[in-house]
Amino acid sequence: MAANLKYWLLAIALAGICADAPCGQSRAAEPAPAADTREAKKAFGAVKSPAGQMAPQAIGQYDCGCVAGAAKMQANGAGWQVMRLSRNRVWGHPVLLGYLGKLATDSQQLDGSPGILVGDMGQPIGGPLLGGHASHENGLDVDLWYAPMPGHTLSTEEREQTSAASVVNHETLIADKAVWTGAQVKLLRRAASYPEVARIFVHPAVKKALCDAADADRTWLQKIRPWYRHDDHFHIRLNCPPGSPSCQAQAPVAAGDDGCGKELDDWFKKLRAKPKPPIKPQPPAKPMLVSDLPPECQTLLAATERAEKIKAADSDR
Ligand SMILES: [Zn+2]
Repeated sequence: MAANLKYWLLAIALAGICADAPCGQSRAAEPAPAADTREAKKAFGAVKSPAGQMAPQAIGQYDCGCVAGAAKMQANGAGWQVMRLSRNRVWGHPVLLGYLGKLATDSQQLDGSPGILVGDMGQPIGGPLLGGHASHENGLDVDLWYAPMPGHTLSTEEREQTSAASVVNHETLIADKAVWTGAQVKLLRRAASYPEVARIFVHPAVKKALCDAADADRTWLQKIRPWYRHDDHFHIRLNCPPGSPSCQAQAPVAAGDDGCGKELDDWFKKLRAKPKPPIKPQPPAKPMLVSDLPPECQTLLAATERAEKIKAADSDR
């Protein structure tokens, strides 16, 4: 079949199915006879590249979805460098790449930043990742390091071996003055300023430092929310872009709430609480299966795997 026709058929299939993601729940009473019961993170994690040209679509949820027509972030650009290239988590919806390019340029030109270090984005067609994240699945999430970009082009080894430095003193739960500077405040403020951003996740101590640093204009703080970890990187999440009818947005943050009050106090209480001893060993969580993902993602995976097989057979000839 001509490659173009194949992708048209896939595009039609992706456009016509409504995503009602059943992640973490049992599916409808009658499972499809050909349900793909492979572990989702292994199947999606094995995909090396997207299946050809396709209209970009973020599909499903941030933690239960995939992305069609993802674009690859180049390792180096105007004001950015990408870390950990070996993971192949450099893919995202084109709006994510556009956002990162804009943030990198604006940070340099308007805020005097040396540039940004980009961590994990998503896999070639998104989906669950083999390790490290519960989201980053539908092409709209990216991790950035708090550390500024060095003045030289990093070698492959440096990108693999340099560790992201924590900006939090875990004894005091205060941003560490040795590494936390006004530069990070400017970067986070700039990152939150674009309308395509839904949320930015940071460590509670980082949120506190931002609350303390903000002046009378506190609207930019609304999208920046505390979350577990995130002491050595922050996580930017974009809104569902136009042309992605089955993308499921998270509820927007409450307007007018800068998040510096009770919510933040509660986080510190949680962090300072003594860990409770486990009552009994918990059974391992049930792994997400390919069949738990939205139908469009199952179609996309199957088509991508077919395309990869054809490509491999062609290259063997
Ligand atoms: Zn993340």
